[in-house]
Amino acid sequence: MDPEACDVLIAGAGPAGSTAAFILAGRGLKVVLLDRSSFPRPKLCGGLLTWKTVQSLERIFQVSLRALQSAGLIRFETRRYTVADRCGHALTRRLDDPFHLVDRTSYDAFWLRQAVSAGAEFHAGAAVASLDPARCEALTDSGRRWRARVVIGADGVDSRIRQTLASAGKLRPPRRPGRASALECFAPRRPGAFPDHPTIYFGHVRRGYAWSFPGPARQVLGIAALKSPGRRLQDDFRRFLRELKLPEPERRLRLHGHGLPYGSYLKTPGGGNMLLVGDAAGLADPFLGEGIYYAHRSAELAAQAVIAAFARPEAALALYRESFRRCLLPEMRYAWAGRQVIFALPPRLYYPFLSLFLRLAPKIAEQTIQGRRSFRWFRLKTPCPR
Ligand SMILES: Cc1cc2nc3c(=O)[nH]c(=O)nc-3n(C[C@H](O)[C@H](O)[C@H](O)COP(=O)(O)OP(=O)(O)OC[C@H]3O[C@@H](n4cnc5c(N)ncnc54)[C@H](O)[C@@H]3O)c2cc1C
Repeated sequence: MDPEACDVLIAGAGPAGSTAAFILAGRGLKVVLLDRSSFPRPKLCGGLLTWKTVQSLERIFQVSLRALQSAGLIRFETRRYTVADRCGHALTRRLDDPFHLVDRTSYDAFWLRQAVSAGAEFHAGAAVASLDPARCEALTDSGRRWRARVVIGADGVDSRIRQTLASAGKLRPPRRPGRASALECFAPRRPGAFPDHPTIYFGHVRRGYAWSFPGPARQVLGIAALKSPGRRLQDDFRRFLRELKLPEPERRLRLHGHGLPYGSYLKTPGGGNMLLVGDAAGLADPFLGEGIYYAHRSAELAAQAVIAAFARPEAALALYRESFRRCLLPEMRYAWAGRQVIFALPPRLYYPFLSLFLRLAPKIAEQTIQGRRSFRWFRLKTPCPR
């Protein structure tokens, strides 16, 4: 039987997939968006949005922050944050631009609805099982076959599209260590039990960090780190929970795990007519693990490349690679270099090093995290050409 045809097939309907689908369907392309899950679906995440993320959402989806707040998408806003260590040292600061916190279940479902409203055809429970990169074809686990001019792999940290491209020799995976394990648990919010703003903890784990993020109903507690021989992240996390002095039953909260790209970014995000975006391209900040911004932004760049190369789909990857290397790759590289300096230290020195930097140059550090500056020499950012 002939495969079903579309202009663009997108695997994965997280923030990256829905963004690409929204832009491409809005330009009149026939877009098929597949996800192995039905939505709303849970996604393990702290849900923290930086300034640059909100800017991107406003630009891409033409929606105001106020509208997102009224829609109940943004659950929490704060201008304060704390960096802390295991010995009770902590530095709390006030930001110029607030952080926003979202619940990923409703957040992802919201952007998927935008994509469908723009005209994308969504299929839930449709996992891409295999691909033929030469023909640009995908087969789902339910046996449906699709052929597209371009495939966009937005299928997350364990991307099937990325693995297939790598085994077909169409992609060179990086050699640097680039995948963290992350664990989270959710504690009931009790007045005064947790800081009312995001707190990042250093020193509990080697080559990683822990966090406590507030939400309206529950507190998100998490830890992420690169693998360290002979250490179990679960043990580090349980010790972290004990040190937070949670009541005994909460120290035994159920832990949930998920992978996190942590330096696995690619220099060329795809192969042939297949483009990788978001976690599938390894695009999370290699130090703090921020990935939502990079998911939306890389999908925007990929979609623009597909539109520009519509007549010659084989040129889409070259166009995407060009904007990717200009707008995203330098951020990954410089954040990675910075973390190499910090992770060369023993974990007990992460906090003294970072808090010294925050005391000496607080605005530079905060503007870099928020995206008003680049990780590249902390330069103030000029808007990246679209
Ligand atoms: C514990 C944790 C905390 C985090 N906290 C933050 C944070 O506070 N702020 C932040 O900015 N980032 C955070 N991140 C990173 C952020 O969650 C990711 O970078 C972001 O979700 C990437 O979006 P994506 O669309 O690329 O992938 P995903 O959101 O993972 O979406 C991928 C989609 O692909 C689907 N899929 C997978 N395989 C297939 C297949 N074969 N066929 C079809 N569909 C498939 C999945 O069902 C999923 O819906 C965190 C990550 C973790 C693990």
